[in-house]
Amino acid sequence: MPDAGGGDATLRDVTSPAPTPPEQTFDWLDAEAGKRGDAGLVRQLRPRAAGDRDLDLAGNDYLGLAKDKRVAGAAAAAALKWGAGSTGSRLVTGSLELHTELEHELARFCGAQAALVFSSGFTANLGAVTALSGHESAIVTDKYIHASLIEGCRLSRADIAAVAHSDLAAITHALSTRRKERALVVTDSVFSVDGDLAPLPELAEACRAHGAALLVDDAHGFGVLGDAGQGAVHAAGLAGAPDVVTTITLSKSLGAQGGAVLGPRRVIKHLVDTARSFIFDTALAPASAAAALAALGVLRSEPELPSRVLTAAGTLAVQLKDAGFTVSLPDAAVISVHAPSPEAAVAWAARCAEQGVRVGCFRPPSVPDGISRLRLTVRADLTESDLDTAVKVISSCAPAAS
Ligand code: PMP
Repeated sequence: MPDAGGGDATLRDVTSPAPTPPEQTFDWLDAEAGKRGDAGLVRQLRPRAAGDRDLDLAGNDYLGLAKDKRVAGAAAAAALKWGAGSTGSRLVTGSLELHTELEHELARFCGAQAALVFSSGFTANLGAVTALSGHESAIVTDKYIHASLIEGCRLSRADIAAVAHSDLAAITHALSTRRKERALVVTDSVFSVDGDLAPLPELAEACRAHGAALLVDDAHGFGVLGDAGQGAVHAAGLAGAPDVVTTITLSKSLGAQGGAVLGPRRVIKHLVDTARSFIFDTALAPASAAAALAALGVLRSEPELPSRVLTAAGTLAVQLKDAGFTVSLPDAAVISVHAPSPEAAVAWAARCAEQGVRVGCFRPPSVPDGISRLRLTVRADLTESDLDTAVKVISSCAPAAS
């Protein structure tokens, strides 16, 4: 900078902008909110009341276990026995026998060598992706993977190729043209917006042909797919495979909260030593661990629950298709119904809510293809009359041009 002849203070006076008064510091947020408003992307929190009797087609409680007395009761008992919180991270004071028991049971149920419990599915994904990759590796992903996996990829410092949705040839091409020797393919099993299934056996084969590991987020498959709900990885014959790692959440089929990584023992050991979202995070609360364990027990004793979910999903999707909507035929519990615009999707979901039916509403940026949708989820405990009500309300509330 040229010397203007004055001292430092004079220079700053001339060249620096006037300081922002503190009350204007966040003014830029209002401008951003205005832009989101114009694009129909403002989001609303709609708290449920405790006795809410709405028909819920928006949650992820696929087996209807979140309010099951055996599950909620186990949570309450564990809070009284172990405390409301776990008091620390797993490597300090937070590891409880409950965690170890849950890890053992999850691994046994899913046919994995070992499991590690995290405080959420989001932190399980962050931890698994970052610990199993790095600047010396390549990651190849389907571009519709869950946001938590995307964040893991961003944090990983790996070379990243995010390819077109469900495009096996593109994955194979990215693997064969990668510049780093170590590689990880990252995918959802059941994609969270449209509910379609990734071609897991073919992906595993492509990984093996190209010396890559496969990481599958089975959040929406676990508890719903497989003979008795062991998940999509198990159903694909990949449980216990030495080169496959699975992540799950405890907050969907198990009706609890938390997440887990399942895989080869040495992978789990590596995560304990290196996964930052495991090491630096307070351990899963005792109530959540106990609820997940109890829910797993229910799933074992009622192996028909998963097939009830699939039947409900198939029935609802067919009825909506027959009613004239553009509907994905579900591979698991998630059904998506196309809406003409973000605004129409929001209004449609709001009208359904007024009629006592809660549906999810997905808009950009949650849907990378830009098509706004209603996202419907089913549960094992839905009755035929619930499904009839759902179709009637969704039809009567539909926007004119859907
Ligand atoms: N993966 C997928 C595919 C999900 O849908 C979700 C939850 N929406 C998560 C991970 C995150 O799990 P959690 O809610 O337990 O953090």
